[in-house]
Amino acid sequence: MRIGIPRSLLYYYYYPLWRVFFEELGAQVVLSSPSTKGILAAGLKHAVDEVCLPVKMFYGHVLDLVAKVDMIFLPRIVSVEKREYICPKFLGLPDMIRCLKGLPPLIEVDINLYKNNRDFYRAVKNIGSIFTRNNLAIVRACFKALQAQKKYFRLLNMGLMPAEALALVEGRTEDKSQRKKERLNIALLGHPYNVYDPYISMDIIDRLHKMDVGVTTAEHVPERITRSYASRLPKKLFWTLGNRMIGAAFHYLEQPGISGMVHLAAFGCGPDSMTGGIIERYAHSAGIPFLSLTLDEHTGEAGIMTRLEAFLDMVQWRKAAFSS
Ligand code: SF4
Repeated sequence: MRIGIPRSLLYYYYYPLWRVFFEELGAQVVLSSPSTKGILAAGLKHAVDEVCLPVKMFYGHVLDLVAKVDMIFLPRIVSVEKREYICPKFLGLPDMIRCLKGLPPLIEVDINLYKNNRDFYRAVKNIGSIFTRNNLAIVRACFKALQAQKKYFRLLNMGLMPAEALALVEGRTEDKSQRKKERLNIALLGHPYNVYDPYISMDIIDRLHKMDVGVTTAEHVPERITRSYASRLPKKLFWTLGNRMIGAAFHYLEQPGISGMVHLAAFGCGPDSMTGGIIERYAHSAGIPFLSLTLDEHTGEAGIMTRLEAFLDMVQWRKAAFSS
């Protein structure tokens, strides 16, 4: 059976887990193609106007899979951490997507870890029962999947980008680009599906590398550190990804090697407007240059790149002034 996974949204966090799980149960995992103008255009045509850019892109990825797979994996993710929630848009995804015509059957399960992990294992058992009646095989697949996921997170924490970490988890060898010594190091913060999707982010990571700028992201900071830093907020945020971003930002503000901070936000994203605002205030008090870039389907590449280059020039001058 061919199971489709959209290369979008939480793909950047949990793809190793679900790929290994499905493959261990004998399914073939099919990913949607990398994001393109055409995929976004398909998403824009079918999505409701009010949703954010990443959700519109998600529609396009689902449509890209329609003719290629027997089922599409589309969990309803409510919470991925105890006593925290994830953005409500994830909750509504299966209901929004179900309205599309001509879809293959969807694998819809609720994943809600708000109270405890039991719901996760219940969800895994429900999904596994589509493929086998052998509970032991499901448990074994789940165990291997969790191991792969752990390895992926460990590699991200070591400073790898998702594509490099995925290649290692899958046993592929990645072309190691020979980067020159970086003149600056920038913390690039944002939701992973904005930061790592080369189309949405306008390939910002690669462009920065080409300008000899090192890039470090929230996923490079181990979770125990982001949690500890995020707990400095007088009131905890509701959203897991927002907390992770804030914790990483607070951590980077104390690292002498970080010369500036860029926040990538999606237009129409409530959580981003709040987390971006908080990070900006703390960056200003810490005296760290901060740039906020908001992306939507109309954002012009030239405008974003001009602002980024001007920001980097300013960071470079500042660095030179402080070191002289
Ligand atoms: S957190 Fe923001 S960008 Fe992410 S799905 Fe929710 S509204 Fe969209």
